[in-house]
Amino acid sequence: GDVNIDLVVVGQSRVPQPGQEVFVENMLVHVGGGAALFALSLAKLGLGIAFSGVLGEDSNGSFIREQFAKYGIDTSLIETSKIHRTGISIAFNPDTDRSFLSYAGSNQELELGRLEPDRIAQGRHVHLTGYRGRENHETFLAIVKQLKERGVTLSCDVGWDDSGEWYEGIFDLMRHIDVFLMNETEALHYTRRTNIEEGLRHMATFGRHVVVKLGAAGAVAAKDGKLTHHPAFKVEAVDTTGAGDSFNAGYLYGFLRGLDVETSLKYGNACGAMSVGAYGGSTGTADLGGLHRFLKQHEGGQA
Ligand code: ADP
Repeated sequence: GDVNIDLVVVGQSRVPQPGQEVFVENMLVHVGGGAALFALSLAKLGLGIAFSGVLGEDSNGSFIREQFAKYGIDTSLIETSKIHRTGISIAFNPDTDRSFLSYAGSNQELELGRLEPDRIAQGRHVHLTGYRGRENHETFLAIVKQLKERGVTLSCDVGWDDSGEWYEGIFDLMRHIDVFLMNETEALHYTRRTNIEEGLRHMATFGRHVVVKLGAAGAVAAKDGKLTHHPAFKVEAVDTTGAGDSFNAGYLYGFLRGLDVETSLKYGNACGAMSVGAYGGSTGTADLGGLHRFLKQHEGGQA
């Protein structure tokens, strides 16, 4: 999936136009990109992770590799681009009216068709990103089927369909995915509903296990026809970047450990809350001990 450098500019109210030069006082440097943040958060919880993506041959790429290695992430599936530099996303005013300037860089070369199912399926579970609706539906579904044949479980956070158009193929995809995750906006977009519960019930007729993140309202899951809601934890949100990816890590941790939906939602919400409480996508998330400490301090104090 996607990986880039996140530059978080704090305390800068004016966002520059592309091409305009501005000087900033405080800028934090972090690993970014949804898939990378998910991988880092899950590695922190102690699971063995291998990351597949594309980096540039530059110092930012080296920094990301070092950060991955620090958390024990296997980087042998990462390709190095000969053409593009490592992607950069600059986030301005994360705690107020967050806005971004982004350069996709080497992420432009992400190509699902290049994945080698035999290598990827050496793991027990595969998390896929990068679905682009009609544009790559067939390739995506083919990879999904090849991986399923090899006995791995699958999760997917497809995000907003980049093509901008609604594509019903998403329901076809849901049938093959063990845990399908999305946020509220995406859920309403896919189902063309205005009510999240109705949307979720509709998706549950296709997917076996669908999870919708509801921001400060927590998250809700539909599994085997049963809906379960878990409220968010009360924290002071300073930067919501990566909240969804951190949630995914907490939820998937529960799923992979065979825990029930309620506990998985609780872990997801805790990782999401820890992420929004700190600048940078996965800076706030913790190891398993930290997660349990957070739960001890906050349980009973949900929003
Ligand atoms: P995404 O980042 O994918 O849009 P959300 O905004 O729904 O997803 O956030 C993901 C999760 O992070 C939520 O389900 C919740 O657990 C947690 N979260 C997000 N915002 C807050 C908040 N203000 N307070 C507490 N938890 C939050």
